[in-house]
Amino acid sequence: MALNSEQEIIIIGAGAAGLMAADALSRAGKKWIILEARGRIGGRIFTVHHGNSFPVELGAEFIHGRPRVTWELLKRFRVKAVPVPSSRWRLGEGGFKQDLNSWGKLSQALSHLRVRKKDRSFAQALAEMKISAPVKEMAERFVSSYHASDIHKISANDLAFQQEAAGESAMEGYRLPKGYGDLLENLAALLPSRAIQLNQKALQIRWSRSQVEVLTQKSRFKAKRVLITVPLGVLKSPGALVFRPALRDKEAALKKLEMGLAARISFVFSQPFWRNAPPRNLSGFFQAEEADIPIWWTGLSPDSPVLTGWLGGPRVLSIGSRNWFMRRGLESLSRVFGLDGKYLKSKLLKVYFHDWSLDPFSLGAYSYCGVGGMSARKDLARPVEKTIFFAGEATDISGEASTVAGAFYSGLRAAEEISHIQ
Ligand SMILES: Cc1cc2nc3c(=O)[nH]c(=O)nc-3n(C[C@H](O)[C@H](O)[C@H](O)COP(=O)(O)OP(=O)(O)OC[C@H]3O[C@@H](n4cnc5c(N)ncnc54)[C@H](O)[C@@H]3O)c2cc1C
Repeated sequence: MALNSEQEIIIIGAGAAGLMAADALSRAGKKWIILEARGRIGGRIFTVHHGNSFPVELGAEFIHGRPRVTWELLKRFRVKAVPVPSSRWRLGEGGFKQDLNSWGKLSQALSHLRVRKKDRSFAQALAEMKISAPVKEMAERFVSSYHASDIHKISANDLAFQQEAAGESAMEGYRLPKGYGDLLENLAALLPSRAIQLNQKALQIRWSRSQVEVLTQKSRFKAKRVLITVPLGVLKSPGALVFRPALRDKEAALKKLEMGLAARISFVFSQPFWRNAPPRNLSGFFQAEEADIPIWWTGLSPDSPVLTGWLGGPRVLSIGSRNWFMRRGLESLSRVFGLDGKYLKSKLLKVYFHDWSLDPFSLGAYSYCGVGGMSARKDLARPVEKTIFFAGEATDISGEASTVAGAFYSGLRAAEEISHIQ
């Protein structure tokens, strides 16, 4: 087993948080290496390219609003973000209709949430709200899908906090013409490539104050400090990454944070057939609540032949297979557009699917706070003995947790903590 002992800091994980931290540490004159389990950088940002034509996202796709950290990166790399059409469509009797009211009603419902001394689940908070049954159902579906959460577990206090933290731009969405991966590739291109070691799955971290030894499946690395950016799902999974001695102080925080579940499927068709059917200007998000896969959106440009379906929350666990998604996805679309299933299949060129709950280096999609877990992100983020540091979306306390922006912010925060050690 080779021993590498030159660097001050070992960063575990080359996702948004790890790369952002590495960039900030380089600028602070620190020497680091990244150990990444996968054969690629990006983590839950996973852009693949459909031939030479267009990017398809298997993980994060949207920039939610205008988080400063992300927009500064876009500026730095001269990447132009494309706004997602704000129109939303709903399938009802008589076909598609522009969904003009429901977002307003939904944000009104969520604005009823307040941080209370005694936390409760969103399901409990919703039961107490004086709003109509259809709006309740809408709010339930939204929190389950968007936060990939179980509404009986997710903290109403944390949702209230996020609502307050979200600026006016929070409902705006943007995409990147070359895919989200492009942003991370730009970032990684600034870093010494030999310092990013792929296919290095960290198995064990042995540590004492200012001394760390990381064992991977093929090497041993030594440094003064380690920055952990692996997803919450990995941290919560017994034995996935072993600390010696164990991090007892983190156990309570890990119990109070939950890893959300989501799966997405993208169908690439030979042509955007939906543009020949009413409504001809269908673009952006559309919902078909009765369908197995209820949330869909169109591709980057109006001519893009891609439709993406989304399922979030605990239902994902009971389904989860690619075949199920493919079959039910096509059934959902044939129902939505009133088209014959065989016809749709004949127009299908390719299917892209990734099950994040089964991905061993993620074990879920993104984090959410359980009841009573408002301080858990902060507790998880707190460094241990000036030796073990934490970043990653689950440790973000800026109000952007669960997102790429939250991961970026957490990487900056951890780099600053490390840089300030004497
Ligand atoms: C389906 C899906 C859709 C999403 N959509 C959006 C969206 O539209 N907008 C948005 O802002 N966010 C979205 N997100 C969330 C966003 O992708 C994440 O919040 C963000 O990418 C997390 O970055 P991170 O650096 O914290 O973690 P990661 O990107 O997961 O990086 C952690 C890295 O650690 C590595 N690792 C794990 N275990 C080990 C080990 N033992 N040894 C070494 N390395 C290890 C992993 O391989 C990974 O590369 C989505 C996520 C998913 C799954």
